[in-house]
Amino acid sequence: MSPSRRQLLSTALASTLMGLARAVTAGTSTPARRMPSIFVGHGSPMNAVQDNGFTRTLQKWGRQLGKPAAILVVSAHWLTRGETQVLVQARPKTIHDFGGFPQALMDMQYPAAGSPEFAAQAAQALSAQGAKATEDWGLDHGAWTVLHHLYPKADVPVFQVSIDYARDGDYHLAVGRALSALRDQGVLILASGNVVHNLGAIDPGASDGLMATRPWAQSFDSAVKSALLADDAKALARYQSLDAGARLGAQTPDHYWPLLYALGAARPGEAPKFVFEGFQLGTLSMRCVQWG
Ligand code: ZN
Repeated sequence: MSPSRRQLLSTALASTLMGLARAVTAGTSTPARRMPSIFVGHGSPMNAVQDNGFTRTLQKWGRQLGKPAAILVVSAHWLTRGETQVLVQARPKTIHDFGGFPQALMDMQYPAAGSPEFAAQAAQALSAQGAKATEDWGLDHGAWTVLHHLYPKADVPVFQVSIDYARDGDYHLAVGRALSALRDQGVLILASGNVVHNLGAIDPGASDGLMATRPWAQSFDSAVKSALLADDAKALARYQSLDAGARLGAQTPDHYWPLLYALGAARPGEAPKFVFEGFQLGTLSMRCVQWG
């Protein structure tokens, strides 16, 4: 081989290697895929161990969503008063925050890692709200009973953001909006509650279905759906005047507020998709919504 030909080959090889290096660098610096903002109606903790239309939908949904970089959960079961808290634990424990359920449920663990890095970013994004980082929580059942179906391998880091129960609907929407930017880094925003939730009015004998046993439950759920389709965040924040069914449907707003976090994290133009609709135990709306 002539020296010039050898020279040409080595130049070609060098340029190929440089191209590969660029490709690898580009691969590592490619912006993360924007993940959606979702609301899940979680209902009874028993859904964690049950096979029904709702839990099968969660399993399929998880596969469709793909694997996020991390999951930020806002659960109806982490209520704080006077401040919003962000869980920065590296290894969050599984909290069994209920009683009177079978041992199989008490024994369940969801061993996902935490995400102190993304949690710190979330706390930073909520500095205007005065959010505080804490290690004093874990994954409550609003988080793990649905994550068990969405991401059964528990191989995605999870952290929670609390609901300041002393605040109104506008505040909850604002927190959702402030957290929305995390979606661009591949963080799935998952709010977990129930549009209609009144444990005093459940009908244990009712079978799952699209119709609620109580007209007020059906009516409030439909009104919320219409307001979501109309993108009427203002009306949704003032849910008490949205429909007469709100008086019993969201007698206490703990399970309703998470919806406003997911809605707040939605971007303009992202229409809501109703991934699941239906009732369990007669009055629990299992409505699930996705934006983006
Ligand atoms: Zn609950």
